[in-house]
Amino acid sequence: LETQLFRTQRLESIGTLASGIAHDLNNILTPILAVAQLLPIKFPDLYPEHEHLLEILEDSARRGADLVKQVLSFARGVEGKRMTLQVKHLIKEVVKIVKQTFPKSVEVVMDLPQNLWTVCGDSTQLHQVLMNLCVNARDAMPNGGTLTITAENLVIDENYARMHLEAKVGSYAVITITDTGVGIPPEILERIFEPFFTTKELGKGTGLGLSTVIGIVKSHGGFVNVYSEVGQGTSFKIYLPAAQETETELAQELEPLAGKGE
Ligand code: ADP
Repeated sequence: LETQLFRTQRLESIGTLASGIAHDLNNILTPILAVAQLLPIKFPDLYPEHEHLLEILEDSARRGADLVKQVLSFARGVEGKRMTLQVKHLIKEVVKIVKQTFPKSVEVVMDLPQNLWTVCGDSTQLHQVLMNLCVNARDAMPNGGTLTITAENLVIDENYARMHLEAKVGSYAVITITDTGVGIPPEILERIFEPFFTTKELGKGTGLGLSTVIGIVKSHGGFVNVYSEVGQGTSFKIYLPAAQETETELAQELEPLAGKGE
């Protein structure tokens, strides 16, 4: 317990430190970006010759600003707007973007059931959760492969919860994102949810993708499971508590049936 406590405190101080740096860095990057965009307007004659230099400047400043945004949204913790959401719509939106932007060598398969429970949550945040997982799946398949997104309704009972450390009793909409990529070695698997842990080359990964995922999912009362086999692929499961209204709706739907036999 003590090591766990120490770990949490260490992660908290990393968060505080990082958000401080991110905030200051944002103040530095804003004028750089503004000047990079202003120069070609102020000096149109200079522009053709130095176009690519300005592009590098603007690109880098923008990437820095994106990173800052990620760090800040991660460190700020997550509140978000809560609404009843159709998980199906959310997945379809993400799949649309993924199909448009990922390399053709990544085949995208979506398999959703007729009726999927709704969840109560922030659509922007949950969108980000799915996007982060899809981007990781893409990065794990540099030579192409299959990205599969499925979903199901799941009731976790006490027996199941006892056997699974993370699981809590309740009704869940479960989203599974599977890739046929490189897989994650066990010694790395332990660390993937740590903020700033990345195996990607400099400039490619921030190490904030999965810590953001877990932060958002936990703030929605859910949890995450991961299964991976080196050389085979990886599967992330996102468990989101089903919205209360849906359960009542379902109960109402069942009632007339129950009454029929009388
Ligand atoms: P980043 O993507 O910026 O590296 P993440 O927190 O999203 O940060 O991921 C941390 C690390 O977890 C990655 O660098 C990678 O080593 C590993 N990882 C995450 N998802 C996958 C996946 N689908 N397949 C293989 N490795 C993965």
